[in-house]
Amino acid sequence: MTQKHRQPEVNIGLVGHVDHGKTTLVEALSGAWTDQHSEEMKRGISIRLGYADATFRECPDLEEPERYTVEESCPDGSESEHLRTVSFVDAPGHETLMATMLSGAAIMDGAVLVIAANEPVPRAQTEEHLMALDIIGIENIVIAQNKIDLVDREQAVRNYEQIEAFVEGTVAEDAPIVPVSAQQGANTDLLIGTIEEEIPTPERDPDADAQLQIARSFDINRPGTTWEDLTGGVVGGSLTQGRLAVDDDIEIKPGREIEEGGSSEYHPVETAVRSLQAGGEFVEETTPGGLLGVGTGLDPSLTKGDALAGQVAGPPGSLPPTHERFTMDVELLDRVVGEETDEIEPISTGEPLMLTVGTATTVGSVTSARDDECEVQLKRPVCAASGAKIAVNRRVGARWRLIGVGTLR
Ligand code: GDP
Ligand code: MG
Repeated sequence: MTQKHRQPEVNIGLVGHVDHGKTTLVEALSGAWTDQHSEEMKRGISIRLGYADATFRECPDLEEPERYTVEESCPDGSESEHLRTVSFVDAPGHETLMATMLSGAAIMDGAVLVIAANEPVPRAQTEEHLMALDIIGIENIVIAQNKIDLVDREQAVRNYEQIEAFVEGTVAEDAPIVPVSAQQGANTDLLIGTIEEEIPTPERDPDADAQLQIARSFDINRPGTTWEDLTGGVVGGSLTQGRLAVDDDIEIKPGREIEEGGSSEYHPVETAVRSLQAGGEFVEETTPGGLLGVGTGLDPSLTKGDALAGQVAGPPGSLPPTHERFTMDVELLDRVVGEETDEIEPISTGEPLMLTVGTATTVGSVTSARDDECEVQLKRPVCAASGAKIAVNRRVGARWRLIGVGTLR
C-alpha cells in the first residue's frame, strides 16, 4: 500500500524502559512503513535516534475510537481522511543510552510513555525517562500500557492502578493511560485518538528566525569519491522554530574547532542550504516538525561522524551565544532516580558533570558550586540561550545518573 506523504508537523517521543515495546508501537502506528529516506539518510539519522513518520487518518462515518486509523481505506471501502502527519522519535531505553534520550527530548513536542503491563511498575528507565520529560518540560504525555495480550484482566487492572500510583505527583499525573497491544495492533485506534487530543501541534511563530537543532551530521560520500563528485556535508535535525529554504544562508554554532598554538577555539561556520529532505522527499522549504536532512556546502570532513551533533544552525547573526563556561541555577532531585535510598549529595567544586543542553551533550568541570547555583567549564562549548534547561548528570558507580535540572543564567 502506498502512503500519501505529507510533512510531519509535530515530533512525538517514544520513551520508556527497554523491551517494553516502543519500537513495535512505532511500527504499528506508522502503518505501511515505507522507506522514506535514501539509504544514506537512514543510516545517518536513525542509528541512534530511531524515527518514523506516521499519518493519522479517520473514517468520519465510524464512532470513536474505531474511526481512527493509519489505513488509507475504511472498512466500507471509502477513502479515509487525513488528520495529521506526525514524526515519532524512538528513544533508546537502555540505561547506557540515557544521554541519547535526553538529547532527543530536546526535539520532542510531546511523548508517549510505554509501560509493559506484565512487569512491575516502575522499571528503572520508566522512571528515569519520565523524570527527563519533566526536566525538559514536556508536558503533553500519553501513557501506553502495552502488552495487554500477555496478562489477564485482573493483572491488567492491577498494573493500571500501579501506573496511576506511580505517576501521581509527576508531570504525567493527568496523562491518559491507554491499554494496547502493539504487537497485535489492539486498541491502537484509541491510542491515535488520545494522541490527537493530548499532543496538539504547537503554535509556531511564522516570522521567527529558523533554528535547527542538529542531532546528527555525516559525510554521505562513498570512500574514494573524486572531488568533482563530492557532495557537501549533511546535517540532520529538527527545526524548533522558523522556516528553512534551499539557498538560505546559515550559520552553525559553536562551529569548528581550530587549534592555534596549543590551545583550541570554536569558530562558527557559515554555509548555504543546498538541499532539504523532509517527510521523505526533497522539498524547497520546510517548517518545524519531523527530522530534516540538510545538504550544505560544507566540506564533508567537517560533518563526518556526528562532528556537528548538538550544534545549532540558523540565519547568520541570529543564534544564541556560544558558551565555553556558564553559570546555571540548579535544582537537585530528591534522590537518584530508580534507587530507593540514594540521596543526592550537593554538587562540589571540581567534580565532573555530564550536561545535556538542547541536543548537545558535554562534560563540564565544576569550578564553583553553591547550594542552588554552579559554574562549569565545558569540554566542548554549547550554543544556547539564557533560560535554557539543562539536564544534570553525575557519575554514580559505572554510569551517569540524572541528578537535577539546571537553568542557564
Ligand atoms: P523497545 O526496546 O521498547 O523498543 O521494545 P521492542 O519494541 O523492541 O519490543 C521488545 C519485545 O517485546 C519484542 O520481542 C516485541 O515483539 C515484544 N512486544 C512488543 N509489544 C508487544 C505486545 O504488545 N505484546 C507482546 N506479546 N509482545 C510485544
Ligand atoms: Mg526500541
